[in-house]
Amino acid sequence: MARRLVALSKSFWGEKIILLSPLLRNMHKIVTVDMEKDILSANRDLAEQNKALLEEHGIRSFDFLGAIGSGKTLIIEKLVERLKAKGMRCAAIAGDVSGDDDYRRFVSHKIPAVNVSTGKECHLDAHLIDHALEELPLHELDYLFIENVGNLVCPVDFPLGSHTRVVVISVTEGDDMVRKHPAIFAFSDVIVINKIDLAEAMQVDPGILDRDAMSANPGAKIVMMDARHEKGVDELILALGL
Ligand code: MG
Repeated sequence: MARRLVALSKSFWGEKIILLSPLLRNMHKIVTVDMEKDILSANRDLAEQNKALLEEHGIRSFDFLGAIGSGKTLIIEKLVERLKAKGMRCAAIAGDVSGDDDYRRFVSHKIPAVNVSTGKECHLDAHLIDHALEELPLHELDYLFIENVGNLVCPVDFPLGSHTRVVVISVTEGDDMVRKHPAIFAFSDVIVINKIDLAEAMQVDPGILDRDAMSANPGAKIVMMDARHEKGVDELILALGL
């Protein structure tokens, strides 16, 4: 099924690239900008459609961004367990370049899940989510969690149609992480600083990440977590309004 999603996405974006390719030879810079506009605006339209579909079914959705190893999957698992205990019905979409490791983790919580392999793409897009939603029992869900491909650059321009964007960073990524990727923090609603139990060993001051996150996005909610040891889970639930 993941293989099918990749093929659909490529044909969707590929159409414009083929149509415009003769122009590319002579007008490389200008045409590149036009293509980008087309792709981004098509993605935004599809994202709105995804959001409308989710709202039609009364589903609240969360899109998790962050580098590989920041702790996105584990945080979603913790939220799913808490919500399930409250009788809420959850589902997850696992986005990765390849493999089904995260998908298997979600399925182990006995929730509906879809694995989306992007192939060479470094982010999910609204078209991939559109097709992933076709695989989920939307009429039986309260919450949807989408885990994007591990990357802090590519997903910025590609909203998926979720209600809330969460970016997760880990202290193991260094205390300059926010300053190096300001855009992704500016476009997120909640910023999680994870693995704070490792801060001393990594000689990283989480206070610097906190300060930089606040400066990149003064309106965002910032949550310190040590998800592995259940610290900060309650605070994140509060920040997400769950
Ligand atoms: Mg993951």
